[in-house]
Amino acid sequence: MLPSDTQRIIDQHGIRYVLAQFVDIHGSAKTKSVPVCGLESVAEVGAGFAGFAICGMGMEPHGPDFMARGDLQTLTPVPWQPGYGRVLCIGHVDGKPWPYDSRYVLQQQVRRLSERGWTLNTGLEPEFSLFRRDGEGHLQLVDASDNLDKPCYDYKGLSRSRVFLERLTEALQAVDFEIYQIDHEDANGQFEINYTYSDAMTSADRFTFFRMAAGEIANELGMICSFMPKPDPKRAGNGMHFHLSIGSASNKNLFHDASDPSGMGLSKLAYHFAAGLLAHAPALCAFAAPTVNSYKRLVVGRSLSGATWAPAFVAYGANNRSAMVRIPYGRIEFRLPDAGCNPYLVTAAIIAAGLDGIDRQLDPGAPCNENLYDLGLERIAARGIQTLPQSLKEACDALQADPLFREVLGAEIVDEFLKLKRMEWVEYSRHVSDWEIQRYTEFF
Ligand code: GLU
Ligand code: MG
Repeated sequence: MLPSDTQRIIDQHGIRYVLAQFVDIHGSAKTKSVPVCGLESVAEVGAGFAGFAICGMGMEPHGPDFMARGDLQTLTPVPWQPGYGRVLCIGHVDGKPWPYDSRYVLQQQVRRLSERGWTLNTGLEPEFSLFRRDGEGHLQLVDASDNLDKPCYDYKGLSRSRVFLERLTEALQAVDFEIYQIDHEDANGQFEINYTYSDAMTSADRFTFFRMAAGEIANELGMICSFMPKPDPKRAGNGMHFHLSIGSASNKNLFHDASDPSGMGLSKLAYHFAAGLLAHAPALCAFAAPTVNSYKRLVVGRSLSGATWAPAFVAYGANNRSAMVRIPYGRIEFRLPDAGCNPYLVTAAIIAAGLDGIDRQLDPGAPCNENLYDLGLERIAARGIQTLPQSLKEACDALQADPLFREVLGAEIVDEFLKLKRMEWVEYSRHVSDWEIQRYTEFF
């Protein structure tokens, strides 16, 4: 029999099918649809998947099944798909949690924090772009009039995409996202929806749900909602900043200390955590910016609006949006991740790096409070500020060279991730682009 709480949610929302959901190594949602009569078995044994069919699960066609075991506490309705619910799963193989499942990997990192009496709270800021396909299959902006050089916060742009934005907002509110702001971002056709922070696992689950909702609601409206990191090379890309703080058992923010002489309101613990992020930044980049396209967002240079708003250098600063780590006040904003990341892997890697900073009492040095975009590469180098990896290959090399993540997150998932990402890089490098055709066809 299902627990009474679960049955109540099913009855209240008329749920007939439940999506047993987990993510592949890229963070894309994978599901089976389970009629409610099969839910109990999904919670006890799991829904069975041929693991080799899922990216990055470290499985073979002749091996045992990947069993996605549902956590009934996570059951919610799927508001844009009436009659459906969604339950989050942890992958099991031969009855044991599977070290290639990134949700399991995050669960282990969350446990390391809870052993110290801590909870990592994260506030994620998804940015996305709205497109449609024209008759020839080319991507066009949904709103052709959204063409300002500086489109950020523009009223017309926000108003003309409001049908999609309202539908998405209302779908998320129906599953308890506390949405407090919606805005047009700095690229044409780009938006962001902000909601209240939660513990790190809930935030990663929510971001996955966000992408599922946005993709399907857009599809119903004949649109494409893209989380691609940099759809337009001349405009700002789609970031997914993480706001970070550690809560004590009584949910006191342990990153806040009003007596911080810098005025940033940070505790020693927070400085060590930030220093961990800085020390491991090149390797973290592979998880936070995991696609070929991500490195077109992290460029040294400008966009048409004046700034990319994305980090290019390993630095932190007080409310400095040109730095990789911004300190709004009493918490940390990590600006490296993009909207195409696997939120479980990124969060797990953030915890690994942050705890390393705490355990080794690393010092982030003085904050950098200048506009890094204007400093110039020579002065950046003279100040000893590192440039972030500028390609997926550089990021993979950095991850390979940094032993922390293999040690802490597990060799299985890190090696599998590197293998797939190096293949992605090779495939990209062998592709002959329009740029090459234009440049070289009659060049010689
Ligand atoms: N879109 C920018 C990025 O790629 C961030 C803009 C902002 O600060 O909200 O990170
Ligand atoms: Mg933003």
